[in-house]
Amino acid sequence: MTFIKSKEIHLASRPVGLPKSEDFALKEVEINSPNDGEVLVKNLWMSVDPYMRGRMIDQKSYVPPFQLDKVLEGGSIGVVEKSNSNNFKEGDFVISNFGWREYFVCNEKQISIVNPEYGPLQAYLGALGMPGLTAYVGLLEVGKLNEGENVLVSAAAGAVGSVVCQIAKAKKCKVYGTTGSDKKCSWLESELGIDKAINYKKTDNLITEYRTVISKGIDVYFDNVGGDHLEAGINILNVNGRIALCGMINQYNDEKIKPGPSNLMMLIVKNIRMEGFIVSKFDNLREQFLSDMKSWIDSGEINFQETIHDGIENSPKAFINLFSGENTGKMLVKIS
Ligand code: NDP
Repeated sequence: MTFIKSKEIHLASRPVGLPKSEDFALKEVEINSPNDGEVLVKNLWMSVDPYMRGRMIDQKSYVPPFQLDKVLEGGSIGVVEKSNSNNFKEGDFVISNFGWREYFVCNEKQISIVNPEYGPLQAYLGALGMPGLTAYVGLLEVGKLNEGENVLVSAAAGAVGSVVCQIAKAKKCKVYGTTGSDKKCSWLESELGIDKAINYKKTDNLITEYRTVISKGIDVYFDNVGGDHLEAGINILNVNGRIALCGMINQYNDEKIKPGPSNLMMLIVKNIRMEGFIVSKFDNLREQFLSDMKSWIDSGEINFQETIHDGIENSPKAFINLFSGENTGKMLVKIS
């Protein structure tokens, strides 16, 4: 029996270069009543994330590619509207991977309860969710940050980067960050308290810029961007430095693979460790992460910032705008 109408976003074509609005299609579908062990969820918030660009390419990776003419997937938070499960009741807030749609019916095993005790509900898609955990494990487990060290963060004003900056400040580090606008540089310095923000769009040569601004070098480089940012990060690292390779957003829309940094030899001579990571490997640290975040939130050392688009129909725009740097903090779509 048909139960409800729901709008959702399908992948209409595989993007070539920067994704365009025509690569996405808004569809209306009919959602049936939940069967035994199932729930009906109304989405309230959804996340758009850079990693989704990789899933739009038809290639094998750590997550399977999105299918053409099928609804996209991604993190979302919703409220249970009807439950045929003993584990969920109407009104429960739940997190799932059923983003890009207004409503869905799923098995009870495909959702988890969200208890918004440390921050607003949507923060569990940002600073208190996957991007926050990425920042935490990348900086502390992969980067092995010690108190008082010097840290450099690329895409510093984004969802992951802004949490990295704040954790590093909470650890009494000197923090440098790159971002793509003067407004975001001011925000990083005045609101997050980092020591110096650099607008990479205003410099022709990041290595020279770093050599001028970062007098004592850096001990940990948290890289979200890759390419010339990575090369300059390697250049400015001190002996025994660490690189947490988190993302390479400057090549997600490339049609041809770029050559790697030309200065990898410096990893040898400076005894630098460079390590890539995927956050899901560190799921076991989620409780510890939330407990540390709670104490930093309580002490005022971590703040949340979000950039919000309204309505499911604007989710492709929100996603595309990640690549022009529209967002400060976490890019989100408010669905309902
Ligand atoms: P952000 O919120 O940081 O959004 C992306 C930001 O990247 C933009 O706001 C923009 O800011 C910057 N950017 C976009 N294109 C470029 C470019 N060509 N060159 C330099 N900067 C660019 O996204 P997230 O915080 O969600 O993700 C940050 C990185 O972390 C991404 O690379 C992502 O893939 C990676 N990631 C990795 C995970 C893992 O498990 N390893 C998990 C989650 C994220 P600006 O104004 O500064 O240009």
